[in-house]
Amino acid sequence: MNGHRARKRFGQNFLQDTRIIQDIVRAVNPQPEDVVIEIGPGLAAITEPLAAKLKQLHVIEIDRDIVARLKKLPFAEKLVIHAGDVLQFDFATVAGKKKIVGNLPYNISTPLLFRFADHVDDIIDMHFMLQKEVVERMIAAPKTNDYGRLSVMLQYFFEMECLLDVPPESFSPAPKVDSAVVRMIPQPGRIGWADDFEHFAALVKQAFAQRRKTIRNNLKHEADDAQLLAVGIQPQDRPEHIAPELYVALSNKLLHNATQNESDMNGSMDGQRDQHKHD
Ligand code: SAM
Repeated sequence: MNGHRARKRFGQNFLQDTRIIQDIVRAVNPQPEDVVIEIGPGLAAITEPLAAKLKQLHVIEIDRDIVARLKKLPFAEKLVIHAGDVLQFDFATVAGKKKIVGNLPYNISTPLLFRFADHVDDIIDMHFMLQKEVVERMIAAPKTNDYGRLSVMLQYFFEMECLLDVPPESFSPAPKVDSAVVRMIPQPGRIGWADDFEHFAALVKQAFAQRRKTIRNNLKHEADDAQLLAVGIQPQDRPEHIAPELYVALSNKLLHNATQNESDMNGSMDGQRDQHKHD
């Protein structure tokens, strides 16, 4: 590994399969002027062919030894190196609409994916190597075993597609799990707009709190049968049978009912006040 000892704590499994590397670069399809950010360049397996097609390439790397190596690469002048933790990185500091690429450290992939939700307006597309099992959960359709909270929350923001499966032997050292490359394209609104995103996110979390239970049971403190039925959810259904659109609709319905109740209450309070005036 060119004298670098792979660090487990940084999820270092370096790509060594040239066919897979070419497939990733072809999928990203970088154009010279594109603003591209690579997360975790490592020993530059993807970095080098990407940089060859670009005027400039941003890379974010946590491992200081690797950062030192990156600075010595023959194409180093094309790299803008951001040394540090991607989870702390402020993507807004890189101007322009971005393409993001990474063979991600699997231990931070889920929190990282959620961070991109805050930047959807600034992202053209993202191509990530992830644990295959995670990709399957991200793209899963309702009524499948893989469908869950991750599917609903990411499908709210992104159109996603699994582009290729990658076996362990494509890496050195080989990980214990299969991997896959996923393409994510921001498409907010594809399953509707939540009037209050925090409310929607909390509702989905609660809906999947216990997968084996019915939606009525999981949401017993949030929604009654009439509210579920009003948006087309059968109360006795399991959370994994319910389409992402219906979670958005339910969140909006519950919020609407709450504001309705509030204004009804205010109305009746006003009525009471008027009543007092007449007394
Ligand atoms: N891109 C290289 C490849 O495909 O061979 C390396 C991929 S390796 C799976 C993950 C890379 O991300 C490593 O270089 C690792 O040091 C880096 N990394 C791990 N955690 C990171 C973090 N929190 N922020 C930035 N980089 C990180």
